Amino acid sequence: MELEDINTVAVLGAGNMGHGIAEVVAMAGYDVHMRDINDEFVQNGYEQIEWSLDKLAENDQLTEDEAEAALERITPLVDMEEACGDADVVIEAVPEQMEIKEDVYTELEAVAPDRAIFATNTSSLSITDLAAFTDRPGQFCGMHFFNPPVRMQLVEVISGAETDAETLDVIEELAEDIGKSPVRVRKDSPGFIVNRVLVPLMNEACWLVENDEATIAEVDSTTKYDMGLPMGSFELGDQVGNDISYHVLEYMHEVLGEAYEPCPLLQRKVENEELGKKTGKGFYDYEDGPGAEIPTDEQSELVKARLTASMANEVAKLIGNDVAPPESIDEATKLGAGFPDGPVKMVDDFGIENALEALEAAYEETGHERYEPAEYLEERVSEGGFYDATEADEAGVEFDAIRVEYPGDMVGHIVLDRPHRMNTISGELLEELSAAIDLLEDDDEVRSILITGEGEKAFSAGADVQSMAAGGADPIQAQELSRQGQSTFGKLEACDMPVVAGVDGFCLGGGMELATCADLRVASERSEFGQPELNLGLLPGWGGTQRLKHIVGEGRAKEIIFTAERYEADVMESYGFVNELVDNSDLEASALELAADLAGGPPIAQKFTKRAMLAGRDDTEAGLEYEASAFGHLMATDDLMEGITAFMGDGEPNFQGE
Ligand code: NAD
Repeated sequence: MELEDINTVAVLGAGNMGHGIAEVVAMAGYDVHMRDINDEFVQNGYEQIEWSLDKLAENDQLTEDEAEAALERITPLVDMEEACGDADVVIEAVPEQMEIKEDVYTELEAVAPDRAIFATNTSSLSITDLAAFTDRPGQFCGMHFFNPPVRMQLVEVISGAETDAETLDVIEELAEDIGKSPVRVRKDSPGFIVNRVLVPLMNEACWLVENDEATIAEVDSTTKYDMGLPMGSFELGDQVGNDISYHVLEYMHEVLGEAYEPCPLLQRKVENEELGKKTGKGFYDYEDGPGAEIPTDEQSELVKARLTASMANEVAKLIGNDVAPPESIDEATKLGAGFPDGPVKMVDDFGIENALEALEAAYEETGHERYEPAEYLEERVSEGGFYDATEADEAGVEFDAIRVEYPGDMVGHIVLDRPHRMNTISGELLEELSAAIDLLEDDDEVRSILITGEGEKAFSAGADVQSMAAGGADPIQAQELSRQGQSTFGKLEACDMPVVAGVDGFCLGGGMELATCADLRVASERSEFGQPELNLGLLPGWGGTQRLKHIVGEGRAKEIIFTAERYEADVMESYGFVNELVDNSDLEASALELAADLAGGPPIAQKFTKRAMLAGRDDTEAGLEYEASAFGHLMATDDLMEGITAFMGDGEPNFQGE
């Protein structure tokens, strides 16, 4: 089956997940048959969709017409044959119980057309076991959405033991077509990727407390404020529901063995019905207490080492058993759990040998199987990490398409160095840019980044269309290049230091998308801007459809993108895209001056400001939450004292980032 052959999608179950899945599939233009076991349940799901579509329209994420059309595409049904008799794809989201799913698949197999693909949204059951209830294990796979499907980007597409490659391909295409980011899980393995990382991490947090090695406050302070995860471990556990983590663990325990023995602390929480936010009490008290109040200053080296070691062991098992490569694990965890860096990268940054050492020490002390280092972890220690060293790493810090310079004043200067091609962006340049950002972020002497283009013609005239054409017009390659650009540009945008783009000359297409990721832009008067992609029948592909509107407003962003015209620098200044317009001959000096100025600012406050603004961009609540906790964290820094003292004394502060 090809993507074009999919017209009707049946969704079984109109509960929490089912109604959300039906909604996103209908929004993408498919006819949806949503089925539940009685009128009341299916109507209830339908009403929730109606409510959610209204909300999206209210927030301008859809037009009223689009919302109405999406709702019209959904037919609520109770009869199985009516729901699935003509379905091309069936997505099953019925309760997480083998017996219920067995009944559903038996009934489904009797009415579904032979061509139909079955995809299960199960969180933990074996795809292979579920497929065995049907006569089409080749046309059966996992399609694991995250809650709520309307907002969460990730879909894990999971292979069962007998799933055909074409089935996985087309379900991935479907996931993309409904605006999601699929990550392939090559083997049917408990917890797939995200839960396999998160749930043992939660368990280890509990063991640390159970064995009196740390307090809940220390664990959460460390995970949130040192490791930089979006929530403390226990805070997250309370949010997810302690019963859910416990059941997933029990399943892992049963299938994977003693290493996944649920910690008694977690078990007690479940027995006492302290399930987290939903029952008013979990590890924190949300009804009679203040909820998850996490201290900013109780970080513990032991907690960090142990939790990182736990992640190292899980990712080693996933990579070593070919369930997923490092890139997929990191992408899935970032999208599905909001990690700022993926767990594989976190382990590599922490030092794979340090993670192994922490495991070995705990194994020797306790003899518990969960600390037994995975073979693949030991193997990778000699390689220095899970990720293979990039060319840039291996060559020291030698770059070809860019240069990295250190002009002083704590500025790291990246120069796009392809003047012969108007500093256009090639795959190689993207790779090097990504390595350069890592390099500068790891450098304690660098506190801001400046990006400029070599020569006077262009900051960057866009993507290197020629080098792309050399690869043929292959849609898969084009998609890969788009992803690579998205991830590198996203990294620049999410970088903890202030970033300044100094623009002189053409700043077009991908070049403008790159400048959009900077925090501030300085431009020379002769500069010209534009997003010409639509003229080529393309679209602004490296986040170009998403970021520009946050700087110039959606109306201007649409104008720039749809007209595909060139804009003078002074116009872009009036649109708010250019922060500072300078004489042509002053560009480099002015941009450097601004970058140096920002480098003298308070690094921790800058970091948290950037993170809070980014977190709040599409989710104001999350942003405000982040902002509030960061505020608490900043109270404990020396920089604050320094800033206040300098302010009171009318002097210049000397921030140390401490
Ligand atoms: P839910 O209980 O909210 O919804 C399940 C729905 O299925 C109910 O409305 C129920 O009446 C209906 N149902 C039962 N038997 C049925 C049948 N024979 N045909 C059609 N509908 C039937 O559960 P949920 O949270 O939506 O979870 C559904 C699935 O999604 C589970 O496998 C779960 O593991 C998985 N999942 C849940 C989450 C989550 O956060 N809730 C996230 C990812 C995956």
